[in-house]
Amino acid sequence: MIDKSQLTIESRFEGCLLGLAVGDALGAPFEGKPADDITRQYRNAQDLIENPPPGELWYTDDTQMAIGVAESLVKCGRINERELCKRFAANYLPQRGYGAGAKVVLEAMVDGRDHKALAANHFPGGSFGNGAAMRVAPVGLMFRHNQKQLWQEARLSALPTHVHPLGIEGAQVLALAVGIASTTEAFDRDEFFTNLSDKCNSLEYSGPLRRAAQLSDVRNLALFGNGIEATSSVVTAIAAFGLSPYSYEETIGNAILLGGDTDTIAAMAGAISGAYLGPAIPNHLLENLEDREQGKTYLETLASKLCAAHEKITKTGQ
Ligand SMILES: [Mg+2]
Repeated sequence: MIDKSQLTIESRFEGCLLGLAVGDALGAPFEGKPADDITRQYRNAQDLIENPPPGELWYTDDTQMAIGVAESLVKCGRINERELCKRFAANYLPQRGYGAGAKVVLEAMVDGRDHKALAANHFPGGSFGNGAAMRVAPVGLMFRHNQKQLWQEARLSALPTHVHPLGIEGAQVLALAVGIASTTEAFDRDEFFTNLSDKCNSLEYSGPLRRAAQLSDVRNLALFGNGIEATSSVVTAIAAFGLSPYSYEETIGNAILLGGDTDTIAAMAGAISGAYLGPAIPNHLLENLEDREQGKTYLETLASKLCAAHEKITKTGQ
């Protein structure tokens, strides 16, 4: 077992961003499949990790948008909505598997149209999908030293696309899980889940988080949901981490075996696990992660820049 007190902060930042990308990319081929289809193919999480689908691991919109969040934090030191939207628009590649609603909003961003009105109107009351939570991990890292600020900045990072309170809170809870994981040396399940559930405003999150603290059998992980709604995926990802805090492989493998929104749930779970464990991603997966313009090497550099930006704001007390 890795001694967490020996981990550098930078290795946790890198573990988080790469953990997110590998979870996303490994989950992507299974997106939308029922759990039965996947468990017919793989006996358990380890089997899936040891025998991934052949070919390069190509990440999707989850990682693409998290990159935009990290880039804007590196540049501004906090969430600046204008800069964030600029990064989302500059990075937008429709073939990364954006959801239909996100496409409409992002294409408006690219064209300079009123994307906020679209975000509010596309779904009545705004989206409570997991699109804000899937990209929020860099906020959790950046503000890991200040939970109050982390909570506020996570909200700001959600707003360009998500105005529904449950969509926003899903991002806040996920960011906090990443922040806590990245500062924890010895994982204490009760403490971890109590910290998270105490911070929640809605029973939709605090209730399942309290139940997740009691989870001990992987077969019950599915009870937390596998959907695209933030309320049926954010706690699932956190619970997958809580079940196997010392294993990145089991965390993302179990998330993918649930079926449904596999890429996003594995991305979120992988980000938390990587923030806690640092360099814990199996080499055969890491070596297969795409490494072009914004691939593996870019993510490593971005993690290091984000870490420097984090250290800057902690020194200046911003
Ligand atoms: Mg995706």
